[in-house]
Amino acid sequence: MKPDCIIVGSGVIGCGTALELASTGAKVSLLERGEAGQESSWAGGGILYPLLPWDYAGAVNHLVQRSIALFPTWAEELQAASGIDPEYRRCGMLVLPPFSTPKARAWCDTHATRLEMSGARKIIPELAADEEALWLPDVAQARNPRLLKALRRRLEQLGVEISGHAEVTGWKNDGARITGVETSRGVLNAGRYIVTSGAWSRQLLGKHALNLDIRPIRGQMLLFKTKPGALPAIILKNGVYLIPRRDGHVLAGSTLEDVGFDKSTTEEAKTMLYTQATGILPLLKQAPLVRHWAGLRPGSPDNIPTIDRHPQLENLYISSGHFRYGVTMAPASAEIMANLILGRPQAIDITPYRWPGGNHHAVGANSFAKERHGQGSPVGE
Ligand SMILES: Cc1cc2nc3c(=O)[nH]c(=O)nc-3n(C[C@H](O)[C@H](O)[C@H](O)COP(=O)(O)OP(=O)(O)OC[C@H]3O[C@@H](n4cnc5c(N)ncnc54)[C@H](O)[C@@H]3O)c2cc1C
Repeated sequence: MKPDCIIVGSGVIGCGTALELASTGAKVSLLERGEAGQESSWAGGGILYPLLPWDYAGAVNHLVQRSIALFPTWAEELQAASGIDPEYRRCGMLVLPPFSTPKARAWCDTHATRLEMSGARKIIPELAADEEALWLPDVAQARNPRLLKALRRRLEQLGVEISGHAEVTGWKNDGARITGVETSRGVLNAGRYIVTSGAWSRQLLGKHALNLDIRPIRGQMLLFKTKPGALPAIILKNGVYLIPRRDGHVLAGSTLEDVGFDKSTTEEAKTMLYTQATGILPLLKQAPLVRHWAGLRPGSPDNIPTIDRHPQLENLYISSGHFRYGVTMAPASAEIMANLILGRPQAIDITPYRWPGGNHHAVGANSFAKERHGQGSPVGE
């Protein structure tokens, strides 16, 4: 039987969207070019927060705020149903200087976010220097590879067909609708098609991308192994962060490199990350360095993703361009997409996530038109 939806790309955005739709009883098929969940969503750090939210536009923060409100239940239900622990936990984040205290305070006051000024070593005794720091106790994290495993198991339980090594190579359309996708397994059909192909979304859409501006931005990461509990919280200094996992692994990241579809690692980035990480937390000098990897983020202007129906093709949708915060934004992005497809009201204003470059076709816009005008808060702070 033909599925209701074909979703192209099985990162956290594709899997999250599939979960939301399958939970409503939709028949969903997920197509993945390689192995499920092995690209950016695997490579990321899993901090569930913008690094410095006061540096971002309202459009980023509104989506993030909605997502972090959904995350605890999302993670809990996933764990209960799948039996796999995504290691969601509120460990807090300590921001070391330089930072702007007035900006941080103003943002936290407006967003009802707890913020404390603290001596850095009061929170993390092992730090190299005891500076005045910003402490954000509610910042949470998840362990990406485990989150992806839990999502995959849950999707299988819900009957979602996940096809690995099924690359989508082209689109068939009759002018107003997509009629099929060309894949390495032949032409496949569904009622609707959702592109969640991360950094590859624009290339995959070809001429249908219109003005979509999504491109790969490489991020490199180092992994240390320390004793469990050696680092109690996330640390951020000068754009470099350290993330402690429960079992003692510590991730140090990351770079932001505009180098096209090149996922290789470099000695230069390794040296930079190692120097910064050990400079912040000297105990890492004694910790084995166990891995160095790179992933390609779906980069977008101002970090604002596109979550929308195509302006002209009424059954083509996209959720992509989540750039640095795709894991954080996954539950709210999935919610928006399901609401769009099912004609349900939106929890936040979705205008900022519209497809750039075209007027929306009138056909099939009934439930869509309602959402264009949005409910919820206006954009901009
Ligand atoms: C180093 C690094 C650190 C990060 N840290 C964080 C963090 O701390 N917090 C946070 O929230 N986010 C973080 N991110 C960002 C986050 O990982 C991404 O925004 C998110 O993973 C994007 O998810 P996605 O599903 O859109 O893309 P992906 O995970 O890349 O998934 C896209 C999938 O589509 C598949 N695909 C592509 N083309 C085709 C095709 N033609 N046919 C079939 N399948 C196709 C790909 O193989 C891939 O599996 C980080 C990213 C990196 C690289």
